[in-house]
Amino acid sequence: MDFELSAEQELLRKTVRQFVDKEIIPYIKEWDERGYSDPQIYKRLAELNLMGVCIPEKYGGSGMDYNALAIVCEELERGDTAFRTAVSVHTGLNSLTLLQWGTEEQKQKYLVPQAKGLKLGAFGLTEPNAGSDVKAIRTTAVKDGDDYILNGEKTWISLCDLADHFIVFAYTDKEKGHNGISAFIVERTMPGFSSKAIKGKLGIRAGNTGQLFFDNVRVPKENLLGEEGEGFKIAMSALDNGRFTVAAGACGIINACLEACVKYCHERKTFGEEIGHHQLVKQMIANMEAKLVMARLLVYRAGELKNKGKRNTRETSLAKWQACNFANEVANDAVQIHGAYGFSNEYPVERHLRNSKAPVIYEGTREIHTLMQADYVLGYRKDKPLRKTLPPWPFEG
Ligand SMILES: Cc1cc2nc3c(=O)[nH]c(=O)nc-3n(C[C@H](O)[C@H](O)[C@H](O)COP(=O)(O)OP(=O)(O)OC[C@H]3O[C@@H](n4cnc5c(N)ncnc54)[C@H](O)[C@@H]3O)c2cc1C
Repeated sequence: MDFELSAEQELLRKTVRQFVDKEIIPYIKEWDERGYSDPQIYKRLAELNLMGVCIPEKYGGSGMDYNALAIVCEELERGDTAFRTAVSVHTGLNSLTLLQWGTEEQKQKYLVPQAKGLKLGAFGLTEPNAGSDVKAIRTTAVKDGDDYILNGEKTWISLCDLADHFIVFAYTDKEKGHNGISAFIVERTMPGFSSKAIKGKLGIRAGNTGQLFFDNVRVPKENLLGEEGEGFKIAMSALDNGRFTVAAGACGIINACLEACVKYCHERKTFGEEIGHHQLVKQMIANMEAKLVMARLLVYRAGELKNKGKRNTRETSLAKWQACNFANEVANDAVQIHGAYGFSNEYPVERHLRNSKAPVIYEGTREIHTLMQADYVLGYRKDKPLRKTLPPWPFEG
């Protein structure tokens, strides 16, 4: 066990932090108010080689380890959840899934431009009637010669209007239950595809989230990801990576709240002294620090298992569940420490509180992760080996 970051990882943290301090934090209040998502940010992230951090160099990525992705996510979410969410779906849910399950042709065509940040990837699983209950999806893919015809609708999809490529899940054989779901790579430009943003969100207002519509979208058979009927397994393996990035991002919310609270504790005086001297405020600060360290340890443990090429569904679920709960609790206390000022957007903590709610819902709700953890402990849940796995780090070639 090594609890220290490498020099390369430390440099990466510094680079992302400087970027966030200069190019996100000064503008985020306005973007959040306007519900505006600046697409230029993704171009800048690409210039900094941050859109394919743990993708092997031979596929256009930076070739860094899986914990490097965690560092990027933590530092981005210290700025705002919207940008970490984008990296979660682009790299965590899409690119790593292509790396794990894609054919060489699919990797060359879709993964390489995504890892270089020239194209954006997203992930379409959720539907109006199917979130936690994936089997309830209604989107269908019917074989027609050398193509599949997709019909249906997805909702709550991050980067819905910005992504170029989507991994989309649809039934190829409804009779087979979850073994009848297949995964497809769908391009925005395919006729019959459209998208629409959701307005009026509680948080992640600077992010783009919404619906996807498939109206007889003709997808060539070369865009089937994995084999027919493997879609459910592909979706769950994608979530092992997406959840890892969400957990890492939660550490960024905790850190941002802690920084804001420490500053405010020194500025604000009541009863003749800085509020940091009051024991009940100290208790909240101490809990924030403990939660930051605990969340990071859970994240890096999951990342280390990924580096070794080991199955990490259980450890990643635990990290995601706890880190996101911690972030939501910490953001709530951060508003408390700021008193009435915390209730306005004069300070960043109210935005972090609103943003921290979505990660407790997406990529497995708090309740779903609680059930998963109990089932592992009770022996009701056991992970079977997958046909395809992610490459361990360091990557070959
Ligand atoms: C900002 C945002 C971005 C998102 N981005 C994406 C994306 O990019 N791609 C994508 O595919 N999806 C995305 N989602 C959707 C997200 O993954 C789903 O919202 C999530 O899976 C929960 O599904 P649901 O909202 O349908 O809730 P439901 O599944 O309907 O759950 C409702 C409530 O019931 C509880 N519940 C459900 N089943 C059980 C059970 N068995 N036991 C106990 N309690 C249960 C849940 O925990 C929850 O509290 C996003 C959501 C948000 C908010």
